Amino acid sequence: MPDTPNEPSNPYRLLPAIDKLLTSAPLQRLMEVEGLPRDFITAIARERLDLARQNIRQGVAPLSSQQLLDEIESLAKTISNGNLREVINATGVIVHTNIGRAPLSIEAVAAVNKVAIGYSNLEYELETGERGSRMSHISDLIARLTGAEAGMAVNNNAAAVLMVLSAFARAKEVLISRGQAVEIGGSFRVPDVIAQSGGKLVDVGTTNKTYIRDYENAINPNTAIILQVHSSNFKVVGFTHSAKLEELVQLANAHNLIVVEDLGSGTLLDTAQYGLSHEPTVQESISKGVHLVTFSGDKLLGGAQAGIIAGRKDLIDKLKKHPLARALRLDKMTIAALQATFLHYLKGEAEHKIPVWQMISMSQAEILQRAKSWQAVLANCWEGATIVEGLSTVGGGSLPSETLPTYLLALPAIPGKSAAMLTAALRQQRPAIICRVERETLLLDPRTVLPDQDDILLDALKKNCSFPTSSRLDFPTS
Ligand SMILES: *Cc1c(COP(=O)(O)O)cnc(C)c1O
Repeated sequence: MPDTPNEPSNPYRLLPAIDKLLTSAPLQRLMEVEGLPRDFITAIARERLDLARQNIRQGVAPLSSQQLLDEIESLAKTISNGNLREVINATGVIVHTNIGRAPLSIEAVAAVNKVAIGYSNLEYELETGERGSRMSHISDLIARLTGAEAGMAVNNNAAAVLMVLSAFARAKEVLISRGQAVEIGGSFRVPDVIAQSGGKLVDVGTTNKTYIRDYENAINPNTAIILQVHSSNFKVVGFTHSAKLEELVQLANAHNLIVVEDLGSGTLLDTAQYGLSHEPTVQESISKGVHLVTFSGDKLLGGAQAGIIAGRKDLIDKLKKHPLARALRLDKMTIAALQATFLHYLKGEAEHKIPVWQMISMSQAEILQRAKSWQAVLANCWEGATIVEGLSTVGGGSLPSETLPTYLLALPAIPGKSAAMLTAALRQQRPAIICRVERETLLLDPRTVLPDQDDILLDALKKNCSFPTSSRLDFPTS
């Protein structure tokens, strides 16, 4: 294919000139009515024209002028609307990493608002008028709630683990059971984190069985840490053994080592009281004598993204002075959200105020009633809408393979609209709606849909109902 734009029959000549695009009604409207800068629209038009030329070069059928114009308009709108948007979670996965993990409580959001919109005593002692520490707002709460001597928090749990290892294992050895040198979700690999900290990983035991004597045999003068990593999102079952925390602590104390436990989700409440299996609590680890425990702020704690560190005061004091403490420090909004979240625990109201725990503790009756009210709204527009029994999951690297019984609104695909088409349309709503699909049926779990989102959810579903069939807005009819 000739690559010279002047050939009479050549496809490049079919591409509109940039000026023609910019003076078209849709793009004029974006600039004049919506007030988007001309430079911004021009840049997008250029990018799309370049892409169109590139496509022609690669032999892809060229877009028509109208298609090109539509693309430019839609891209300009998408970018100027901001890409990060609200999502309604109808999946029934409570701590869903891809859609932002834990929603904050109303009180936590209010606290964030207050410090975000103005000034605060973030690093200022109001009593003395002197400089204070940003950690002071949460350190004491962490210690009180976990039973540890001291506490602090950094940017996320990955950062917490990295910091602890950097502070205490640099150029030294870290003992870890072979079964725990694992990868936990998005690029958190324990061996890599140890390497990054400057520590040397020493595998002990085997993948399925590790005894206390395996640790003991590996100890030498260069050993600094015994690392325990909670199997947050997988299970090793069957012929297994792992050393008890108490045994590890005893061994470490005898050799002047530090036991560090990465609890992952780290819960302060006992999951067993909600029909789930028992997830080890932070308090249990501390009471068994673990020297440092790390866990996430936005998994089962139900707060903002953070890595909480609790443990021995002398160790926490060292961490607070470590150079990484400044690089990994929390911003004021996160501190405000965490403080408010911790206060729910302090006041014994976590189950009723923190969304993650509200969802975990939601009664079957309440879920069924909401599913029924959804069904009633859709009854005369969605053919075959029924309620079925199903399972919600905790998710987010907590309690693998654990489920909570739930009721789901089941919406079968409609003639002419496959389940894939329907979910695609729901993802394009504002807020976007995400649900599960099984056997060409949309499954929506009321457990994870916030109560004030019911109306928006139902309106969006009504728009995509069997009738009226002409919802041209949502489906490109070919
Ligand atoms: C989730 C998890 C992490 C990473 O925590 P983030 O807060 O996402 O950085 C590390 N270790 C374990 C065991 C986890 O479950």
